[in-house]
Amino acid sequence: MLNLLQQDDLKNGGSNTDLKRFRLHSIIIEFLYRNGQASNPELAKLTNLSSPTINKLLLELVELGIVQELGHGASIGGRRPTKYGINSNAKYIISIDIDCRTISMGVFNLQNEAVSDIITYFDNVKNKKQVFEGIFKRLDALLADLNYNANQFLGIGISIPGLIEAKTGETYSDLLIDDLSLEDAFRKRYQLPTFTENDSRVMALGEQAFGSALNKENALCINICDGIGLGMIVNGKIYDGKSGYAGEFGHINVVEDGLMCTCGKKGCLETVASGTALIQFAQKGIVGGKQSIISELVHGKLDDIHVSTIIEALENGDIFAIDLISQAGTYLGKAIAGLIHIFNPETIIIGGKVAGAKHFLLDPIQQSLNKYTIHRIKQDTEILTSSLEGKVKLLGGVAMVMNTLFQQEKEFFM
Ligand SMILES: [Zn+2]
Repeated sequence: MLNLLQQDDLKNGGSNTDLKRFRLHSIIIEFLYRNGQASNPELAKLTNLSSPTINKLLLELVELGIVQELGHGASIGGRRPTKYGINSNAKYIISIDIDCRTISMGVFNLQNEAVSDIITYFDNVKNKKQVFEGIFKRLDALLADLNYNANQFLGIGISIPGLIEAKTGETYSDLLIDDLSLEDAFRKRYQLPTFTENDSRVMALGEQAFGSALNKENALCINICDGIGLGMIVNGKIYDGKSGYAGEFGHINVVEDGLMCTCGKKGCLETVASGTALIQFAQKGIVGGKQSIISELVHGKLDDIHVSTIIEALENGDIFAIDLISQAGTYLGKAIAGLIHIFNPETIIIGGKVAGAKHFLLDPIQQSLNKYTIHRIKQDTEILTSSLEGKVKLLGGVAMVMNTLFQQEKEFFM
């Protein structure tokens, strides 16, 4: 990885031998990053190179501090081969998850482990200046703890809700500071490659690299937060459509002449099954006289109801909360039936805050699916809630940075 090795001389034109050597470095680094470890014979097989050549390349990478010896593997007859792996703390990645109401961030190493505290705090994304200042202040403090030096960092991955132009990374959630886009503002301040992506697709990247979609060719990730988004893994790749707007699952119509949606249409899935909808239904129901422990949990202050409040009530057996989630699940199931018929996915992963309702949400979804799907297609699909829970989008941000840098490097050598 060019960026990983800081082979700047190469960018200014290296000899053919250098180019070839650096391309092989890159292949070895990516293999070790993705597989954890490998021996000389395994790498020789992968690259079709001789064992002495691989040995020379590995020694160069050890010298650069990117690769390290891990000890000896099992014998395959004769001497036990030395195993090599990535030096996990050679480089770091910054990951930021901007959600509708919470922001999280952390610094990760090359084994995708957090090397800083993971900071999570409430913020109102509608106040743009405050959002930037809040993130910069906290990230600066995190980096100061790590004695920040830009050379040690590979890049920044940012997950954000809403429409994002695939090619330019331009966001349409109007997050601008001094006329700079979100991506440019971070690039300028930290002098690092910065990549932004829609939060549902970042969730899919996280599940694909580290979670329930690992090694799956076809999987769908449904992200239910304030809105409802969809990240699609189709034939092993993240699908983003012509302009990068694919996956606006929350805006398909499920209620004829239903409630007004933020998109300007009526009766979208978001108006009946998103976190925002659940909170509004809870508030209306309680005002209308429904008995529920939700009002006790917020001491009568209905503005303080969050999705987490409804889930807490649910776990305490609150019938009103169970009904709310059940209704959301029924609508979701109906819409997911459409997805199953179109995509025939292996796995559907339900994530986001509302997924915290677990089987209270999955059961009504299954009920709806039993009603609305062709059994032969449905039986191929497993539906589960995310195993990575709160961390999935931060890990997805790490995967986004690493995938993009490896891809850029492949294109450079082509
Ligand atoms: Zn809508």
